[in-house]
Amino acid sequence: MQENLSRLTGDILNYLHFLKDEGVRSLPCAAGGGRDWPAPGGPGRSRAPTRAADAACPKPRPAPRAASAQDSSNALLEIAGRVAACERCALHKTRTRTVPGQGHPAPDILFVGEGPGEDEDLQGLAFVGEAGKLLTRMIEAMGYGREEVFIANIVKCRPPHNRKPEPGESAQCLPFLEEQISALKPRVIVTLGGTALEALLKVSGITRARGQWLEYKGIPVMPTFHPSYLLRVPTAKRDVWNDLQAVLGRLGRAVPTPANK
Ligand code: SF4
Repeated sequence: MQENLSRLTGDILNYLHFLKDEGVRSLPCAAGGGRDWPAPGGPGRSRAPTRAADAACPKPRPAPRAASAQDSSNALLEIAGRVAACERCALHKTRTRTVPGQGHPAPDILFVGEGPGEDEDLQGLAFVGEAGKLLTRMIEAMGYGREEVFIANIVKCRPPHNRKPEPGESAQCLPFLEEQISALKPRVIVTLGGTALEALLKVSGITRARGQWLEYKGIPVMPTFHPSYLLRVPTAKRDVWNDLQAVLGRLGRAVPTPANK
């Protein structure tokens, strides 16, 4: 009996290690799982109420795409290595650090901005300045954390004086983003501002295109305003929030309220 119990415990531990190696970080609560031990008093007494146990279970999240996440991580690292050495356009001459983008390797959402600013250029990270802080609040309002989405830009080096990237610079850099998208396989892409929309989809006029679903190689794309624009025109936040709610709807996720955020 003792020997069987030890073997069973070993098998369970091995299986849990296997799941961990596969990227599984949580297990669903079975009906009453862990709580429906026979009630004190032995058999015949009622078991823990399944409904109460279910209520205590967190809502299921989409299953992690573990295998593809590992492949994607490797591909993203390899792309970032090539970006770091890239001298394809003149922006390499004035950059401090390249900014390949960062986040979850198999995200629901990929946010695509224009290019790094001063803070991003110094830190090598996308969207870490004032506009980045606003983007973080937008992401959190959607019920995600920054680490659950991927954030990138059209150009990976800072244009001097924060000017817009020139069309030639965007065209030279775009293949990196295209490779990132094919590794990430996001369920939805959100383009931020007119430059990202134009470079990725060749569609001009963010004011007209904003809020309308478009498509990039079969992936739904929601164009919306850039957070920098929202810092200048806060009244446009309402439009952006409408766009982000449409994204949540497309992903089958409820719009968080303060109570369930
Ligand atoms: S902006 Fe892109 S294409 Fe230009 S040097 Fe930087 S990584 Fe290369």
